[in-house]
Amino acid sequence: MINRFTNCQSEWEALCRRCGRCCYEKIDFHGVIYYTELPCEYLDLETRLCRVYPTRQKVRKGCVKLTRTALDKGFLPGDCPYVADIENYSAPRLFDED
Ligand code: SF4
Repeated sequence: MINRFTNCQSEWEALCRRCGRCCYEKIDFHGVIYYTELPCEYLDLETRLCRVYPTRQKVRKGCVKLTRTALDKGFLPGDCPYVADIENYSAPRLFDED
């Protein structure tokens, strides 16, 4: 079974379902992360794939590399496979959730 503790890069990347939701801008407001409706300029809205994936961290300032240590920062939706098994994971919120 593939899990987020794998050391294999291809297995790690295979966890992604290509939903694209992590590629929408987010705002940190008093420590709570909110989604915006603004997709990254490099997100292909039809395929939900990054158009500059191999060079995304160079091309797009602020693009966060998905590493195990980055997972706890709360950028990913709660049902994303990378964070689905993190206890008490705090996912980004929608503004109208409050
Ligand atoms: S939210 Fe998770 S599953 Fe969706 S594109 Fe991002 S990393 Fe992949």
